[in-house]
Parts: sequence; C-alpha cells; structure tokens
Amino acid sequence: MRRKGVSLVVLLASLPLFGQSKPVLDDVKKQAVTAIDARQVFTQQMVDQVFSFAELGFQEYESSRYVTEVLEKNGFAVERGVAGIPTARIASYGSGKPTIAFISDLDCIPRASQKPGVAFHDPMIEGAPGHGEGHNARPAVNVTAALVLREVMEKYKIAGTLKVFPGIAEELLATKACYVRAGLFKDVDVVLGVHVDDAFGTQYGQSYAPQGLVSVQYIFHGRASHAAMAPWDGRSALDAVELMDTGWNFRREHLRLAQRSHYVIVNGGDQPNVVPSEASVWYYFRELDYRHIRELYDLGNTMAEAATMMTGTTVTRRIVGSAWPPNYSKVVAEVQQKNIERVGMPQWSEADQTLARALQKEIGQPVEGLKTAVDKLKAPSPETEKGGSDDVGDRTRRDTAGRTEWLWRRPSHIRERLRRQRCRL
Ligand SMILES: [Zn+2]
Repeated sequence: MRRKGVSLVVLLASLPLFGQSKPVLDDVKKQAVTAIDARQVFTQQMVDQVFSFAELGFQEYESSRYVTEVLEKNGFAVERGVAGIPTARIASYGSGKPTIAFISDLDCIPRASQKPGVAFHDPMIEGAPGHGEGHNARPAVNVTAALVLREVMEKYKIAGTLKVFPGIAEELLATKACYVRAGLFKDVDVVLGVHVDDAFGTQYGQSYAPQGLVSVQYIFHGRASHAAMAPWDGRSALDAVELMDTGWNFRREHLRLAQRSHYVIVNGGDQPNVVPSEASVWYYFRELDYRHIRELYDLGNTMAEAATMMTGTTVTRRIVGSAWPPNYSKVVAEVQQKNIERVGMPQWSEADQTLARALQKEIGQPVEGLKTAVDKLKAPSPETEKGGSDDVGDRTRRDTAGRTEWLWRRPSHIRERLRRQRCRL
C-alpha cells in the first residue's frame, strides 16, 4: 500500500518560514510530498521490519533500537531509557521553537502472530505475539515524516526542534503518564501521531478511543492446605477471584452503557490438590470521564473487599496503568484535515483491494474493499458505541489545559498511589 506524507504536510502548515511568502510555503509542501513519495521503499521496509519483531509492551527492545537508530544515523540525538523505562527512547533534532513531537506505538498484542498478506488467521508461530493493531506502521510513517522535515528545515533554515517518541506499552496504557510525570512534554508545543484505521481522516475533541481507564490487578492472599485431607484449614484465594468476577458480572447489567470493563485471571493457583494461597485477577475499568472512571474503580475495590469477607482472605492492589480520555486539538485537526484532502488518498493496487475484500468477508463485515475518498473531519462524539482507550490522553490533557505535570493535580489518594506506582511491569 502506498501511504503519502500527511504528517509532514500538516507540520509545514504551522512552521514559521522566515522571510518567505505563502506561495513559497506551497512549494515547500510540494517538495515534501515528493520527498516522501521517493521514500516509499524505505517506509515499507520499516513497516515490515517492525512487523517482524512483534514485541509485547515493555519488551520492545529490537523495535525501539531499530527505529531510533535509523534516526540516529540521520543526525538525530537519541536519549535512551527515558522515564526509567528500559525500552523508551527519544530521538531529537534541531533547536529552538516550536518543539514538535511525533508519537507512535511499537508494541503488539498477545497471540496475534500472522503471516503478512494472508486474509485468514494463519500464524507464523502458533501462540506467539503479533501486530494485530498496526503499531508496526505508525513508526514508519512518523520516521519518514521526521526525516523529510529535517531535510526541509535544513534547506530553508527553519527553526524548531523535532522529537520522535516511540510509544512504549500502549496496549497496557502504561507509559504516557510516566512520560508526563518525568516532564518529557514540558517544552513540547504540539504532539502529532497516526494510527491505522479503516478510513483516512482526522478528528478533534473526544472521539477516537474515547474512554479513559484504570488498569489494576487484585492479588488475593489465602491459606494453603491439602485440598482433600484438610480443606477446612485452607482459605482459597481463587475462590475470592471467582466471587469478585461473579459479583462484577451481575453488577454489569446496572452500569452505564458507556462503560467497558474486562478482566483476565493472571494467577489461578498451582494445582488442584493444593488450596491456592495466592490468586490474582487483572481488570480494565473504562469510562468517559474522571468521575465515572473513579466510580468504576471504587466499585471494583468494594467487590474485591467483599470477596475477601466471603472467603476469609485478604487483598492487595497494584495499579498497572491509567489513561485519561483523549481530547484532540481542534486547530491541529482542521489544519491536518485540509492537508489530508490536499494529499488525497493512497493509490490502492488491485492486490490491496483483493486482500481487503477477502479480510472483510473473513470477519463478516460488508465486502466493500478499501475506501477511495478522504473522510470528513469528525466532530467530537464521546457518547459513542465504540470502545477503547489510548494513553495519548495523558498528554492531550496537558495540551488543552496548557499546563504540565497535570498528573499531580489528581486527588491526593490517587496521587499517592500513583507516586508509588513503578513505571515497569
Ligand atoms: Zn493502537
């Protein structure tokens, strides 16, 4: 598939071209689009390379090294292990204002290993992780944009600083809050990102991935005993997990339609003849605003405590990640939309369309192929049927509020918990 240089053209609309008039800016945009199209092979290779690494959150060692080394070879300075996260790196170029950040994610999801170009599930390695959400394409688009922008800035002596952030562990919603806490966005004026979708366009306000969340593990502690010889001496931590989950699933009927909540049992015990002394369950509590996220989280805590009372166990909590609902800039979206319309749609090949139609058939969607027209600018629609979250919300919050370190303005009980939270799994 052929992807044109949207991110870069967006940027050029807002950069100061000293002493230049508007027609020159148009020329620069044309040059940028040409330069991006000239890198089609390079960009595709990056897409494929990151796809081949297929690393889960916090394990993006090869992906992060590869992406930032491409930039390092092209004059960017790379800072490694930022915010105390081993795989988090930032590549920077230039000096002065504005400071423009590109952000994209690198991590993949469990059990999504897949042969490229095949429309049905056909894993390269059975059970292995894979890129099921397009996080392999995002760094390729951003790096291409950053490289071409660097060239343009040099040629026309445009002031400014570029920062490329490979997003770490986005599938766990686990790092952007840590980036904000470490002050990494302090001097950043605008953050741009891309994500794969079934359309080509942009939006503002609270729309795409509208929910914020708390990601929390409940670890129940009981007492081991022989499950046949002395079950009365045991207190099963697994019983507490099951009762919490059952309670939550009954309560689910009486929650707002906007909520999304789901869990996996991380630890269900060891073997049946030993009453499990420890068991844990991992919940995502998603809602559309702080108040409702907080209410879901409090309800989860209540259910966990209630489960301990029923089972004679105790519980500890571990917050693994959190994310605010994203709130995208209208000004940036409007400029971006104009440039997307100017660049136009990718030129799909017949092979692209065949693969898309086959996939649509496979997953039971309308068989209509890839879209051929740019989407209209989407207005905010938080009361959506769509679910999902993105930890970019942590920095968009800062952008709209115009303040840094907003995390510390949270109520003190959450603040203390987050202060103790480590930025690693
Ligand atoms: Zn994603």
